[in-house]
Amino acid sequence: MGLSHLAIDSNGRKIENPRFLKRAQQNLKRKQKALSRCQKGSANRAKARLLVAKAHERVANARHDFQHKLSRQIVDDNQAVIVETLKVKNMMKNARLAKHIGDASWYALTTKLDYKAKEQGKHLVKIAPWFASSKTCHVCQHKRDAMPLNVRSWECPACHTQHDRDINAALNIKHQGIVKLKAEGLSVSAHGGLRKSGTSPAAA
Ligand SMILES: [Zn+2]
Repeated sequence: MGLSHLAIDSNGRKIENPRFLKRAQQNLKRKQKALSRCQKGSANRAKARLLVAKAHERVANARHDFQHKLSRQIVDDNQAVIVETLKVKNMMKNARLAKHIGDASWYALTTKLDYKAKEQGKHLVKIAPWFASSKTCHVCQHKRDAMPLNVRSWECPACHTQHDRDINAALNIKHQGIVKLKAEGLSVSAHGGLRKSGTSPAAA
């Protein structure tokens, strides 16, 4: 789960919210502004409030549709899905981050991944947020002291690999998830397949 994109996977795919959802969100913002300009108790305010409620519903439906399709595709294509559970409550205290998090709605996506994986007898692995996924080089495991949010790419000082911040984090999360699956007794092949239940690769 990312801030620049809704999600980034360990294959390097960056998934953005689709245009129809962004349009619905912009429409909602416009309607909310219009409502705030209406005088309290006026007939126009009641009308504007109704329009805001409708715009809210359109955003919720668009988000649900997109996340439904995305989670279906991710679960269909993989034997296991590994996600990092973020400390959303703490992050919401930062006003700048809160806006992005509200738009991204990671929790809703994780919930959909979870029940779809269960339906197909697949695995959803959740990685605890204290794991330093962004700060650790996935190639040599060198751990940086700090990784400010504005650093989007970096070079590992130990092995000199160039990293995209989010893809490197996704690869670390995938690795942690495979360790967890192995600990639960599932054998994972070199390319990430689970021998017990199939050979499709795992994704994070
Ligand atoms: Zn390195």
